[in-house]
Amino acid sequence: MTPPARRAPLAARLVLAACGCAGAAACGSSTVKEAAPAAPAAVDAPPPAQAPAAARPTYGSFGFDTDGMDRKVAPGDSLYRYASGTWHEKVEIPADRSTYGMFTKLAEDASKHTREIIEQAGSRSDPDARKIADAYSAFMDEAAIEAKGLAPLQPELDRIAAIAGRRELSAALGATLRADVDPLNTGNVTTDRLFGLWVAEDLNEPSRYLPYLLQGGLSLPDRDYYLSGDKRFAEIRKQYQEHIAAMLGLAKMAGAEARARRVFELERKIARVHWTPVQTRDITRTNNPWSTDAFGKKAPGMDWKAYFEAAGLGQQRDFMVWQPSALTGISKLVASQPLQAWKDYLAFHAISRAAPFLSRALVEQSFAFYGKTLAGIQQVRDRWKRAVEFVGEAMGEAVGKLYVAKHFPPRAKAEADRMVRHIVDAMGKRIDTLAWMSPATRARAKEKLGTLQVGIGHPDRWRDYSALEIARDDAYGNAERATHFEHQRNLDKLGRPVDRSEWYLLPHVVNALNAPQQNSIIFPAAILQPPFFDASADPAVNYGGIGTVIGHEIVHSFDDVGAQFDSRGKLENWWTAEDAAKFKAAGKVLVEQYSAYKPFPDLAINGQLTLGENIADVAGVAIAYDGYRLSLGGKQAEVLDGFTGDQRFFLGFAQIWRQKYREKTLRTIILTDGHTPSEYRATAVRNQDAWYEAFDVKPGQALYLAPKARVRVW
Ligand SMILES: [Zn+2]
Repeated sequence: MTPPARRAPLAARLVLAACGCAGAAACGSSTVKEAAPAAPAAVDAPPPAQAPAAARPTYGSFGFDTDGMDRKVAPGDSLYRYASGTWHEKVEIPADRSTYGMFTKLAEDASKHTREIIEQAGSRSDPDARKIADAYSAFMDEAAIEAKGLAPLQPELDRIAAIAGRRELSAALGATLRADVDPLNTGNVTTDRLFGLWVAEDLNEPSRYLPYLLQGGLSLPDRDYYLSGDKRFAEIRKQYQEHIAAMLGLAKMAGAEARARRVFELERKIARVHWTPVQTRDITRTNNPWSTDAFGKKAPGMDWKAYFEAAGLGQQRDFMVWQPSALTGISKLVASQPLQAWKDYLAFHAISRAAPFLSRALVEQSFAFYGKTLAGIQQVRDRWKRAVEFVGEAMGEAVGKLYVAKHFPPRAKAEADRMVRHIVDAMGKRIDTLAWMSPATRARAKEKLGTLQVGIGHPDRWRDYSALEIARDDAYGNAERATHFEHQRNLDKLGRPVDRSEWYLLPHVVNALNAPQQNSIIFPAAILQPPFFDASADPAVNYGGIGTVIGHEIVHSFDDVGAQFDSRGKLENWWTAEDAAKFKAAGKVLVEQYSAYKPFPDLAINGQLTLGENIADVAGVAIAYDGYRLSLGGKQAEVLDGFTGDQRFFLGFAQIWRQKYREKTLRTIILTDGHTPSEYRATAVRNQDAWYEAFDVKPGQALYLAPKARVRVW
């Protein structure tokens, strides 16, 4: 388990970084207005297969927050501020959070609901419920944890201290490998373990699984933190070394300062060979099949046989290496750096990962650095929130199953299904009418859209947790066994037929994703909730909210990375050279458009790093809007509270992106995250003709783009 404060965000493809934390604070929004009773059929005509219009409910709530708007701002200058300016001024980020906004509001609700489910599990007798309850009790029993002190971790520290040579070192490093990254589905590419493992379909042959190795080994968010000359980073480096020494000291290791220096210097050497985030998301460079023999030849240093055996991969012949030069560079360090430095490194990382499950002193030290220093958070989260997060992940689908039964009624699923169909249809029409695309590429794009799988709410089959051992008196052991269980579940996929219905998100996690290798999109139950989605709310706001999220995920199949996968999920170029060039040119304009945004005078958005997300936002809004129009069945939407349907659609979109950040967190996100910060995501509307019409946006206004400058990727 990674220390929660720097845990890779649960949110990846869609959401912003650092949404993974739960917290309790009033969200300054959700003023629900009563709408005038509408004639349902006039607002959202159901498709032929559905129940007759008369059976549709009336729309009971307006769905967005008019009080949070700032009507002094012109929508053409900043739709974000117009939609949420008052909210933005008034809301304060809760002390235990790094960001706060609509995604946080949803995550908060999901966390409360998950807590109820976990607490109720205690009164049930089925094995999963008992494990859920026991895992929670063990985490909550702070007195027992305190009384044990370092004892649960001591065997691990003893094993590290006994390492006497490179072969043993390689085995010890291999034993730490866990399936903890996923560069394409969830977009999680960081791990503090030396390498990250991802078991997924072969990029070149999607009918089989392969293990992928990714660079890892760093505890700071990115290589820049170790290498940049900026004084902000220099200060963090100093504090980081102090933190390492403090953690080693708390683990009663003698000579903590000297050890801390060695750990830091070793990590800095690892950082030097790391790829940048932009290189890591370049799929043309990350498709590198290696056989076991290749490791010894191309990446000498590590005893790879010992490493793979200890990792549970001793029988595996074929691998994929995501960042070859990084793997080679790190392997070299295994041979060239002093054994003692590696032992200190292993000990620090073991302590760091264990900290959330050990004594208060370790939890607080960990928070002081990863929470306060790195993210600017003021206060550690309540224990129950951390417990809910741990159990919700460790017993993930068992908790998810209970969550779905309680919080995802069939009606919500039916309505979400309907919206998806409209938006997929809208994407199909866009492909049909795209002026610059040749018939050959168009046919392949349509084929891909036609085979897109959609997962709504939850997986069809649930995971079996019978092999996971949970003890009521062993918080640390439960965490170790849970990560190992997840690792083994992934190793077990190797050699088996590919399961194209696998879910990469848990139902109670607020996120959504596109899985390019199975050509699927996934929307967990926890994101299909108000204020993103309310089956009884105004459809304009639903399409602007969850509809644009659906559109966003569909478009990921056709963004700069997704468009390189065919309908089977194979990495294959199905574009004519001419069409590919035009697509690239449109992407280049978007790179420039977003690179011009400067959240800080000294820090601009990286338009290249965020290109895939920005394509998904721009085209996602477009097809959600088209889907909304389709849903009206040719009729006009009524005016509610003085807003037309189109205005409510764009306001609904802008409001899901209301979000405030602590400065340190925002800076980290800009440097490392593939997502554009929230306020700038709302600027996607600049490229939509319908937005100009809806708000009468004129030349001279800040967001105005001449029709020719508007990017229409899809
Ligand atoms: Zn996305």
